[in-house]
Amino acid sequence: MDMRRTMKQHSTERKKKAYVETYGCQMTVSDGELMQGILAAHGYDLATTPEEADVILVNTCAIRDHAEQRVLGRVGQLNALKKERPDLLLGVTGCMAKRMGEELLERAPYVDLVMGPDGYRGLPDALERLEEGARGGVGTERDEAAAEAGDVAAPAKSRPAGSGASTRRRGPQLAVLDLNLGENYQGLEQRRTDGPAAWVPIQRGCDHRCTYCIVPYVRGPEKNRDAAEVLAEVRALAERGVSEVTLLGQTVNSYATEGWSFPRLLRAVARVDGIRRVRFTSPHPGDVTPELVEVMATEPAVCEHLHLPAQSGSDRVLRRMLRRYTVASYLEKVEMVRAAVPDMAISTDLIVAFPGETEEQFRETLDLVRTVRFDEAFTYRYSPREGTPATRLPAADFIEAEEGQARLEELIEVARGVQAEINRSEVGRVEEVLVERAARHEGQILGRTRRNKVVVFDGDVARVGDYTRVVLERTTGATFTGREAPAGLAAVGA
Ligand code: SF4
Repeated sequence: MDMRRTMKQHSTERKKKAYVETYGCQMTVSDGELMQGILAAHGYDLATTPEEADVILVNTCAIRDHAEQRVLGRVGQLNALKKERPDLLLGVTGCMAKRMGEELLERAPYVDLVMGPDGYRGLPDALERLEEGARGGVGTERDEAAAEAGDVAAPAKSRPAGSGASTRRRGPQLAVLDLNLGENYQGLEQRRTDGPAAWVPIQRGCDHRCTYCIVPYVRGPEKNRDAAEVLAEVRALAERGVSEVTLLGQTVNSYATEGWSFPRLLRAVARVDGIRRVRFTSPHPGDVTPELVEVMATEPAVCEHLHLPAQSGSDRVLRRMLRRYTVASYLEKVEMVRAAVPDMAISTDLIVAFPGETEEQFRETLDLVRTVRFDEAFTYRYSPREGTPATRLPAADFIEAEEGQARLEELIEVARGVQAEINRSEVGRVEEVLVERAARHEGQILGRTRRNKVVVFDGDVARVGDYTRVVLERTTGATFTGREAPAGLAAVGA
């Protein structure tokens, strides 16, 4: 890609506007920021609505079928804009783009580009190629340049105009789907919205093979960023006024590079001047080590919150999921953390109705919730993902949707009950809160405690970024309302 040519071109023409709309997990959100950074560095302005954009990228997740259906619906809606402005380029990026690939171009023929999570470095180049293709006329049979470049998979077959496509195609479609084992986006800058908190990706991909999970197939093996680069980024964020960072990775605590383990990196980040809070997500229970717990217990900036995915409370289900730990070893990790930091809030992810899960095994998951007493549980019904090993389990093992839904609802009820009990017991505490944004009601603001609890209280939106002490006065069960504490009342742990 000739960047000088692109920049020159943009200096003489109206700057093109790009709009990135993200659906998915924190890693997908972080990738959206990365794409915005890449596009801004190549002369694009960032649009705040799809209506004003020349390029719309729908940035996606593939973890659950429901999320994919939502994205397909959204892309269909955006096609209305494309009908008004045929020059508009519409792309689908991220894990769903990688998983569906050319099938997506077939199902949504008005989509110009599908690009998997390892292709973003080449995004401006791909967009330029699509523009050139469109200038060249209707539907090319094959994007030879792309095929020669080797980084672009063969594009979907072009369709003759009007052959069932709801939008007449003016140019080629591109599918950029290859995994790149070395791509960790070293050296590229993300474009973050201003605010007191930032996500910092330190790792991409995953070396595990949990049998229900599509991540290793769409994001490839684990790739870790240089510790020096991560630290430089955190220092730069702190200089810009960011005081809370969350280190991100699929199994963030398995991070390892030359001379650096995750605990060492966590300690170094926690000691960056100006950084007052550090979080990380999501750790794998197998890599919760005494060394990590020691850093969590001794570094004041590391928050008293641990999101520790359990997935199931049954050893037999965990074995079929290939999670590589047992319920007993999970509980040992929880004990180790709580022994070191008694006030630690613990949240988790749980899946019900995994193929073959018996009623008794499901009840073991309910028991786990009651035993650990999670502060928050993110609960899911198993969603088969094509290409994952679990989909090849015997058909008879698959649990009827109705039964799966009933289990999910029971789990939600139990988990919410535990959460409400915990939160009610915390009413009256004084907690340090970082103000994040305006709340729904005028005159109120919303923030988070170190233990990741959401609190709404009276205040002006100009306070975003401030730390204050708040008395927790009431809880809905999940969130709190409170009031700022009078001077002299210290926050818990302060
Ligand atoms: Fe998926 Fe398992 Fe890797 Fe998590 S650890 S991303 S669930 S394969």
